[in-house]
Amino acid sequence: MKILIIANWKCNPSSLICAKKLFSDIKKGLQEKQNTEIIICPPFTYIHDLSVMAGKKIKIGAQNVFWEEGTHTGEVSAKMLKNMGCKYAIIGHSERRAMGETNELVNKKIKACLAQKIIPIFCIGESSQEKEAEETFQVLQTQIQEGLEGISRNQVEKIIIAYEPLWAIGTGKNCAYDEAMSINLVIKKTLAKTYNKGLSKKIKIIYGGSINFSIIEGYIKESMMDGVLVGGASLKAKEFIAILNKF
Ligand code: PEP
Repeated sequence: MKILIIANWKCNPSSLICAKKLFSDIKKGLQEKQNTEIIICPPFTYIHDLSVMAGKKIKIGAQNVFWEEGTHTGEVSAKMLKNMGCKYAIIGHSERRAMGETNELVNKKIKACLAQKIIPIFCIGESSQEKEAEETFQVLQTQIQEGLEGISRNQVEKIIIAYEPLWAIGTGKNCAYDEAMSINLVIKKTLAKTYNKGLSKKIKIIYGGSINFSIIEGYIKESMMDGVLVGGASLKAKEFIAILNKF
């Protein structure tokens, strides 16, 4: 199975010229033969142009979505994203949850994406306080159950779950491989309880948090993750190309 590598560019770079340059550098650097499925999630403003440049090897995703069209100033709907060539959307990233995005809103966004055939990259993760209080499993279970409320078996199969401990995002700290493996199993168990065992095996689970070239392999081989979500390192063409060409 191909290894899923998702880039989250966050609020970078600051111009379309720079976004196109970064994108084409990454594209040019890709080896002919590599075993990865690549998704780049730039800011909304670059999605259309990068979709045109994307070709077959790289897919484009958004970093957020709104669940309706109409009187919602400043928002971007799933249908708009679809019409721009967007195939994926990051939903429930911890940086958005920190601005007030609840599990209920995450659920609406996931449903809106699925209705437009956009694959949600559903982010879950615990804070350092929750980890210290040994609440990680409970927090993740609640995020999964509330985030996927009312989503059918057929639909859930397409979702990608990104486990991103908040204390590891942009901090240089990493979740130990065996700990990430246990969390992978807890996520699968929760999915099996909510849906069924067969389905829980089909859903892709990836890891994110300060991923770089030297640590990525452990999350695939030891933590049994289906891929990774890369923030900071995806903005450095050379480093990101090295990550992509590693597999
Ligand atoms: C992220 O933003 O989802 C992320 C994992 O960022 P970083 O790799 O910079 O920690």
